[in-house]
Amino acid sequence: MIILGIESTAHTFGIGLVTDKGQILANELDSFHSAEGGMIPHEVAEHHEQVAEDVLQKALQKAKVSWKDISCMAYSAGPGLDPALWKGYEKAKGWSQRYKKKLIGVNHPAAHLSIGKQLHRLQDPCYLYVSGVNTQVIVQEGGKYRVMGETLDIGLGNMLDKFGRMIGLGFPAGPKIEGLAKGGKYVALPYVVKGMDVSFSGILTKICQLAEKGFAREDLCFSVQETCFAMLTEVAERAMAQTNKQELLLVGGVGANKRFGEMLSIMCKERQATFYNVPVELVRDNGAMIAWEGYLRRKESSDISVNPLWRIDEV
Ligand code: AMP
Ligand code: MG
Repeated sequence: MIILGIESTAHTFGIGLVTDKGQILANELDSFHSAEGGMIPHEVAEHHEQVAEDVLQKALQKAKVSWKDISCMAYSAGPGLDPALWKGYEKAKGWSQRYKKKLIGVNHPAAHLSIGKQLHRLQDPCYLYVSGVNTQVIVQEGGKYRVMGETLDIGLGNMLDKFGRMIGLGFPAGPKIEGLAKGGKYVALPYVVKGMDVSFSGILTKICQLAEKGFAREDLCFSVQETCFAMLTEVAERAMAQTNKQELLLVGGVGANKRFGEMLSIMCKERQATFYNVPVELVRDNGAMIAWEGYLRRKESSDISVNPLWRIDEV
C-alpha cells in the first residue's frame, strides 16, 4: 500500500510517498523564503499555488510510481496559516477527485510525532515539539495526546524569527542564529518557566532592547539559545520524571539546532534515559510525515476540510 501526503500548513509545500511499512519512497518540497520579511500569509499561499504541480511530479518521479499505485491520500488539516491550509486542501481535493482516491485529513503536530516514533521504533516517548508556532511537551495516555507543558505566548521558532528579522537575518532566522551563536558570550536574560509552561515574549522584548543598545549579535544569539533551550530542557526533564518515560523525542524545526540536541541529550544521559531526534529532512515540515499519519488514521479520519486552530490534545 502506498500513501501520498500533502503538507501546506505554513512555509512549506511538500509531497511525500510512503508505504504501509513506513518506508519513505519520496519526500519532495519547496519552501517559501523571504530576504527581509516574515511569512506573509497570502504570499505563502501564492507560493504553494506556484510550486504544487512541480513538487507533485518530482515526488512521483522520485518514487517511480504513478497515480494507479497510490491507495489513498492524506493532507494537513491544521493547525496552520489559514490561506496556506486552504491552498493545500484545494490541491488535495482536486487531485483526489481527479484520480478517485480517498482523502484523509490529519493533524500536523501529530504527524511530526508519529514519524519520529516510527523512525526510531519508540515504545512510549515523551515528546518535545518545538517548531515555528508550537512549543509543547507532550505524552500519550490512553490513546490520546496530553500536553503537559507549553508556551504561554509565542512558539520558540517564531520568537527566533522575529528577533532575526529585527537584526536583519531574514526568514527563517533559526539556522542563522545558530551560526552566530557559535562566537558569542553569555548576556543575562529573563528565564521564564511557570510550572510546566514557558514564556518567550518577555525574552524577545529584552533581546530586541539589547540589540537596539548595540549589544553584539553573536552574544545575543548565544544567550537566547542558552536561555530558551535550558528552559525547555528543565520542563522536559520534569515531564519525564513525572510520567516515568525513558525516551525523549525532539521534533519540529527548532529541533534541527545542534546545541539544543546536545543539552537534551546530556539531561537524558544523567537520568539514564535516551534522547532521540529526527534528521533534518523529517524534522522540518514535509509530506512524508503527513502520509504516514494518514496511514495510521486511515480508519478514523476522512475529508475534514481545514481547522487552523486544531490542537493535538483534540485529536
Ligand atoms: P517548523 O515550523 O517545524 O517548520 O520549523 C520552522 C522553525 O524552525 C522556524 O522558526 C525556524 O527559524 C526554526 N529553525 C530551523 N532551523 C533551526 C535551527 N538550526 N536552530 C533554531 N531554529 C531553527
Ligand atoms: Mg511543523
